[in-house]
Amino acid sequence: MHFNRWTNLLINNFLYMFGLVTISSLQATFKITLENVPIELTALSNMPILEEKLDGHLKTVCFKESVVMSTYLVAVVVGLYDHIKDITDDGIMIQVYTPTGKSEKGKFALNIAMKTLDFFEKYFSMPYPLPKLDMVSVPEFSGGAMENYGLITYRETELLQDELHSAAANVIRLTIVVAHEVAHHWFGNLVTMEWWTHLWLNEGFATWVSYLVTDKLFPEWKIWNQFLREMTSGLRMDGLEQSHPIEVEIHQARSVLEFFDAISYRKGSSVIRMLQDYLGDEIFQKSLGMYMKKYAFANAKTEDLWNVLTEVSGVEVNTIMEIWTKQKGYPVISVELKDRVLKFEQNQFLSSGSCSDSQWIVPIILSLGSYSKQKKFLLQTKNGQLDIAEFFHSSDISSSGHEQHNQKDFGNNGWIKINVHQAGFYRVKYDNNLMVGLKNAIEGNYLSAADEYGILDDTFALCEACEMPFSSLLSLMEVYRKELDYIVLSRLIDVCYSAVNIISDAIPELVSDLKQFCINLLLLSAEKLGWDAASEESQLNSLMREEVLKALASFGHPQTREEATKRFHAFLDNRNTSLLPVNTRKAAYTAIIRNTSADNRNGLDWLLKLYREVGSVQEETRVLCSIASSPDSIIVTEVLNLMLSDEVRRQDIVYILSGISWECRATAWSWFKENWERILKTWAPEMLLTHFVRDIIAPFTSHEMADEVEEFFATHPVPSVAMNLKQSLELVRIKARWIEHIKKEKESFKELKMFSLVLT
Ligand SMILES: [Zn+2]
Repeated sequence: MHFNRWTNLLINNFLYMFGLVTISSLQATFKITLENVPIELTALSNMPILEEKLDGHLKTVCFKESVVMSTYLVAVVVGLYDHIKDITDDGIMIQVYTPTGKSEKGKFALNIAMKTLDFFEKYFSMPYPLPKLDMVSVPEFSGGAMENYGLITYRETELLQDELHSAAANVIRLTIVVAHEVAHHWFGNLVTMEWWTHLWLNEGFATWVSYLVTDKLFPEWKIWNQFLREMTSGLRMDGLEQSHPIEVEIHQARSVLEFFDAISYRKGSSVIRMLQDYLGDEIFQKSLGMYMKKYAFANAKTEDLWNVLTEVSGVEVNTIMEIWTKQKGYPVISVELKDRVLKFEQNQFLSSGSCSDSQWIVPIILSLGSYSKQKKFLLQTKNGQLDIAEFFHSSDISSSGHEQHNQKDFGNNGWIKINVHQAGFYRVKYDNNLMVGLKNAIEGNYLSAADEYGILDDTFALCEACEMPFSSLLSLMEVYRKELDYIVLSRLIDVCYSAVNIISDAIPELVSDLKQFCINLLLLSAEKLGWDAASEESQLNSLMREEVLKALASFGHPQTREEATKRFHAFLDNRNTSLLPVNTRKAAYTAIIRNTSADNRNGLDWLLKLYREVGSVQEETRVLCSIASSPDSIIVTEVLNLMLSDEVRRQDIVYILSGISWECRATAWSWFKENWERILKTWAPEMLLTHFVRDIIAPFTSHEMADEVEEFFATHPVPSVAMNLKQSLELVRIKARWIEHIKKEKESFKELKMFSLVLT
């Protein structure tokens, strides 16, 4: 391939990047030459440079002929870059290209690439297919990163690490993203999907394996617990009637972009994890090695992988898995215990409360009173049962006192947890007695963090779908009061945000009580963590501090807001102060902006000053995520207008949109309609328009608003975001239905004195 007239596209250090969404099965070798490149610029492509010819201030750069590859993976980057490099034991040169003067910040990513590349070579029993790997940051990028063969492109935030400005969450995210892109060099680049229908094979596997390798590199991060957030996001989207199957019919390559979504990445990786958990690590890894060998430098489809797994495991993988990949949705398993027999019933879980006849083959693993006592079976029909009488007679003398107690009676005093460690992609609804047992187990600290997370997540989803009353969610939340595990607390905080939001629309007079209830739930962990990090503190504690303090600031906890404000001012005066370390800044920015209004606008000015002066993408991102959270519509309008200016990069609108305050939903919607033409022109081509649709529409909670939005888009149709629009509208109607149920329940709140009860 040949480029001649590209130099006039020069913008700062970013010149031109070539990538195509095209037919994935069309494979070829590529020979790329760039002409008229100014000599001071770095020119990169998939392969190493074969030769450079100088001609005055210009050069011609010829790259070696590529291996067989798909056109969508071809890339060229030309720009002003500094770089650092290292060589793996197998002689692969890895280089990280950063904006000039920032090469130090590429060290962490380089280290991760070195280690993950080495891991994948061993894990897949297949060498890295190219002589080099370049990783380069580009200033405008609608996605997070792109796995062009041998030349991965990243947003700056996903590649650069910076001691002063990278919070624990940034470091973990960077590791996952680098691992994901390097993994694509096997899943996607070496073995390419036959057609976009199999997109999930690329994305689901790269996501799953990025967690696998991160767990090996940093076991202390307990990253599989953090994977649960990916799963929750997949479950949430797949609980919509407007979801789609993992394997989706795509007729034109052009329409594929909307399917780079939570279903392909998150449900995809979750069902892979479910299968791996069921088949076991060894069989799984062996099968993947065989699959790589068989389809290297060729195309494969989903069935090809199932066939290899079936051959190695002897389990009919195709039969189990095709329901999960070809049918949208997933089941909720209702469980009850009667006469020492567990009875199961599966139904499709839909947040809208609708019914369907869909069924799945569900791999079920359950624990009874102890993780050493497990049962494993496939639920293949709508109903099933399991006799557990043997466990009632068990008296394990060597077990701990807790276990003996638990085994006495599963119905009242013991616990039975279905979907152990949340490895399966489904929800569970327990009968009352089983739920009581689980609550006791949470309070007694007998359950794994993943299981505690799962019980809360499932209960929240069942409440939202009006399958359980709101009061049962509150009484479960109360059980987590002493929680000190990061991932459980993080889910608890998100549930608190959702509960406060929905109550503010359903029963506004209860909001301040509910906020106080949430504050009380988090105070113990806040006190333990404090504002200042202990020396050698774990990443998980840093993550927890960031989220807990931010939540307290957001719910209006006076002492937290006061402390946050004090420390923020110390930071404004002296950017090197130790009073506001990186993991507490989100909380400080939240406290400041929640207190900012048109009459008292200093907070916004301070944050914008920081944004303009700080010179770190991580800090800029943190500010952008916060500044739309003011409850004041004049301030939020000003922030939204900032997106239309040159001050915010096109790609960075995602951060502002994700932070729009609940109070200013209507402001954002009016602004969106007023600026429609401009938004469409600027953001539709890169699919960033989906963020406007989701973040501005989904927070509404009434049928009237859903109708209004529908009317607007009926006269302003955009086919490329049609699916996102339908999903967002469904989310609005789900909440509208939930509010109606909560209002009916209102009387029982008073009767039960739910709030005063839980507040004591
Ligand atoms: Zn990917």
